[in-house]
Amino acid sequence: MTRPARVVVDLEAAQANLKRVRQAAPGRRVMAVIKADAYGHGLVSMAQALAGAEAFGVACLEEAVVLRDAGIRHPIVLLEGPFSSQELHEIRRLDLDTVIHDREQVRMLDALPDGRPLRLWIKLDTGMHRLGFPAEGFRALWRHLVEHRGVARPLRIMSHLASAHEPDHASVAVQLGVFNAVTQGIAGERSMANSAALLAWPETQLDWVRPGLMLYGVSPFAGRTAGDLGLQPVMSLVSGLIAVRRVPAGESVGYGGSWRCPEDMPVGVVAIGYGDGYPRHAASGTPVLVAGRRAALIGKASMDMLTVDLRPCPEARVGQPVVLWGPGLPVEEVARCADTIPYELLCAVRGRVRFHDQVAG
Ligand SMILES: *Cc1c(COP(=O)(O)O)cnc(C)c1O
Repeated sequence: MTRPARVVVDLEAAQANLKRVRQAAPGRRVMAVIKADAYGHGLVSMAQALAGAEAFGVACLEEAVVLRDAGIRHPIVLLEGPFSSQELHEIRRLDLDTVIHDREQVRMLDALPDGRPLRLWIKLDTGMHRLGFPAEGFRALWRHLVEHRGVARPLRIMSHLASAHEPDHASVAVQLGVFNAVTQGIAGERSMANSAALLAWPETQLDWVRPGLMLYGVSPFAGRTAGDLGLQPVMSLVSGLIAVRRVPAGESVGYGGSWRCPEDMPVGVVAIGYGDGYPRHAASGTPVLVAGRRAALIGKASMDMLTVDLRPCPEARVGQPVVLWGPGLPVEEVARCADTIPYELLCAVRGRVRFHDQVAG
């Protein structure tokens, strides 16, 4: 028997989630965001599953190279743009699209030798103050680029929202207002919406939507589950019981002895830990599914193992499957128990946990 820890990726669920995007944003083009190894789901297999999208968004050239090497011919957008002028050459060679968000990148573009014009997304900072050109001076910059011989036309314009995941956050309307005012009368396709925005703020959908999280079947909102939103979880993190013990009342379990048994009780040991991406900050009480039944983490997860209170499933035996998150146990719930967001948990899963793509049979 091999170590049972593994990730199962349900590609059909991802396809259903893309359909849900289409339903929520009819008539818009979709840039499926698959940065960070498709949020930990596996870059190439997710790109193949989401081939119905009009484009893909990635964080860096290395991710785009992996996609092109795998034969993905879609438009691929580098969301942070080139990190050096050498990368601009590669962007042209690999026929990639890129965001431009900084003067330094414009200088790189100005210095690029003649060749096929590049397809650009100009990023406007409408208030998030992470990436993007400030509103002031944006029109002059736009004029510079629209007349640039190295740049394909029409230019496209994007911005990113800081708080679309919070219901009724005033900043969303403010950012959209800035975007519309600054880009008024400018020709070219526009994009603002991430998953939260495209679901909660349809007025931000514009020409292109840029969903990430919802494609993986996870809710971007604290108060609404994926099920409420018609989304299906794509990733399951699973392992198995490798020991079942009876621990006497008053004894502690695991490193530091932070959790003490209130009575004589069955304790299960699961072959998964922070070395696989399970969050060490998950609190005692974080749910896990043992053979389909809810049980609770006790003590702190260690590198390769964690311990669970088996009192709700006294019949549990070594070898039985354990789900850390997946259908029946939303990663959103585990994230709350670990004082983090589901994005971080999904991206953290990698390394020795083997990937198993599950395709509809
Ligand atoms: C990551 C990212 C997205 C996707 O955001 P989700 O919240 O996962 O939908 C969209 N646009 C940009 C620029 C991003 O960096």
